[in-house]
Amino acid sequence: MRFFFKIILGLVALVFIALAIFLVPPHLQVRGVEPDLPDEAALRSLMAVENGPIAVRYIVNASQPVGDRALSHLSFLIEWENGNLFMIDAGMDEDTAAAFVELIGTLSGGGEGTFFGTVADQMADNIQQVKGVGFTHLHIDHTQGIGAFCDARGSGAELYQTDWQHDLQNFNTTEGAALLANSCLTRGALQDAPIMTSPNFPGLGIIGLGGHTPGSTLFAVGLKDHLWLFSGDTTNAHDDILSNTGKGFVYSNLLVPENTGRTEALRLWLRELDAENDINVVVSHDLEALQTTGMAPFAP
Ligand SMILES: [Zn+2]
Repeated sequence: MRFFFKIILGLVALVFIALAIFLVPPHLQVRGVEPDLPDEAALRSLMAVENGPIAVRYIVNASQPVGDRALSHLSFLIEWENGNLFMIDAGMDEDTAAAFVELIGTLSGGGEGTFFGTVADQMADNIQQVKGVGFTHLHIDHTQGIGAFCDARGSGAELYQTDWQHDLQNFNTTEGAALLANSCLTRGALQDAPIMTSPNFPGLGIIGLGGHTPGSTLFAVGLKDHLWLFSGDTTNAHDDILSNTGKGFVYSNLLVPENTGRTEALRLWLRELDAENDINVVVSHDLEALQTTGMAPFAP
């Protein structure tokens, strides 16, 4: 009996050591990305630039009920007077969306999914106007749709990402990073920090966040009278920013190695900004909260 007990104890120890070998490096990596965050005045300066964006709209790629809310997959299109568009996140194609529904079903008891069409299909001919593309982070549900995008668009669009997003991958982002590396996108140059910008897209600010993944990025869009902050998956629900709620031990430690100290700092930073009348924080997977902001869906 004692012999078997020792074997079981040994096996448990082995599993624990294997988990540690697998998880410690990505945890150390994500904790190494904590760049300075801009203050409200610096963010507001995006609203004052000349020839800034004139509109921002959303596209719903897919959706699935999880518990008492819907887990939606959203992409965003920023529009300028000259017709140029910038796309934030690419969603998934139908097969990948179905696989994702199954994964979430297994992990979180999510229900039946609905697929609304690839982001590329939903943009129709407007896709040719997309001159820039950015990703809130490189998880597959945000990146895989770049295949359909490139099939429809061909070359000509540039990828705008921080060095953290380009250089630092873990077991959840390697596949997405490879998709981008082999895609139709060429990398565009960014200047300044902590709000990185490109003269090609005035009024768009790109800010390294870390927290959820090393490459997690916030996109700030300064319209003349409104500031939109796209916070990706820093939280999965907008309410979690208001209530300063994390994603739980299993998610943040085992499934997605997060820097939970950083995600909390980000929630508090975003909560303060979101409290302003003319600022909205937009969470990638929360369509219900987005619909309360008055942002219109993209209509080709
Ligand atoms: Zn996501």
